[in-house]
Amino acid sequence: MQIRLIATADPHTRVRPGDTGTVLHADGLGTVHVRWDDGSTLGLVSGVDEWELLCERCGDPLVPGCCITVGDPEWER
Ligand SMILES: [Zn+2]
Repeated sequence: MQIRLIATADPHTRVRPGDTGTVLHADGLGTVHVRWDDGSTLGLVSGVDEWELLCERCGDPLVPGCCITVGDPEWER
């Protein structure tokens, strides 16, 4: 699952809005763990950081009706 950062509240990270990465997994606490394309990792926190998921086929923001569905089983796991 590809992801693009919109905003982060973490002042220490090298990751900047617009950067993209790969979702490693989402834990049960609302944190999404991401390996960014520059090699760093940063956990995004729901309600604090902002991001959007990208369609793996067309690279556009993932929205209902795009190539794959939002309810992707890999994301739910
Ligand atoms: Zn698509």
